[in-house]
Amino acid sequence: VSIIMSNEPTQRALRLFTEGKALREFVDIMRREGCSIGFAPTMGALHAGHLSLIDAGRLECDVVVASVFVNPTQFAPHEDFDKYPRNLANDTALLASRGCDAVFAPRVGDMFPADFSTFVDVGPITRVLEGEYRPTHFRGVATVVLKLLQIVPADRAYFGRKDYQQTLVIRKMVDDLNVSAEVRVCPIVREADGLAMSSRNAYLSPDERRQAPALYRSLRLASELAAGGERRVSVIDSKMRGLLQQTGGIEVQYIAFVADGTVTPVDIISGPTTVALAAQLGKTRLIDNLRIGD
Ligand code: AMP
Repeated sequence: VSIIMSNEPTQRALRLFTEGKALREFVDIMRREGCSIGFAPTMGALHAGHLSLIDAGRLECDVVVASVFVNPTQFAPHEDFDKYPRNLANDTALLASRGCDAVFAPRVGDMFPADFSTFVDVGPITRVLEGEYRPTHFRGVATVVLKLLQIVPADRAYFGRKDYQQTLVIRKMVDDLNVSAEVRVCPIVREADGLAMSSRNAYLSPDERRQAPALYRSLRLASELAAGGERRVSVIDSKMRGLLQQTGGIEVQYIAFVADGTVTPVDIISGPTTVALAAQLGKTRLIDNLRIGD
């Protein structure tokens, strides 16, 4: 266990664990002391979106644990596992500055040894939207989150609404498999120009970075149209596509209108609706979503 002291004397120390067993012992001791435990799983390359999960945990729990683990099982072979940004030294400094108590950074071979063979399939909600483009993604996500919650039996686990469908998959898994953690979902943190923060934004070329905020502008357009009384999804969808086409450089994979809290498509906006989209900008795939029709 290494202990990283933060710069500010008033801040707590951040403990770095690479072994699940040692982290579990730390968590068990804290629990015996009567502390509540918050847990935020991440893949690192931390930004303000991730840190908002730590802040939420700090407000609600006595002890906050984060994980930094680029999970190979949620990447398809052609995806960006190898080039995914990794910077544990920077991540630990950021976590310490936000008062995180422990970070778990396991080795791939410890989490997924060569003979690993048990996977969690959460079923139909994993096959649509993201699942159509990334058919094995959610099985990898559900499996690693369940493993992490076995190592860190948290009272509350924190996820970002940025990955809307992932929050539904995690809730379903937690519910179906009697995981005791309460799932907490935090709002999307955005750059000043509206682009949802993402570790993958680092891949964007300067031109792509200028084009990318159009994704959020298209979501805002959907929200404004709905607020102005437009209920037809087909009309809103085509206006969004028009805006994105004008920007150029953005290849839409899907724009989905679903009843908020579900992956069930709607044709007419008649209540809270989530507009979720995925697009390719050059080699970079970005997702975003917005709740409209409140
Ligand atoms: P990742 O490192 O991309 O796996 O993300 C780890 C957690 O941070 C997930 O629960 C994400 O939904 C959340 N997250 C990522 N980006 C954002 C953001 N811009 N705003 C809020 N949460 C985010």
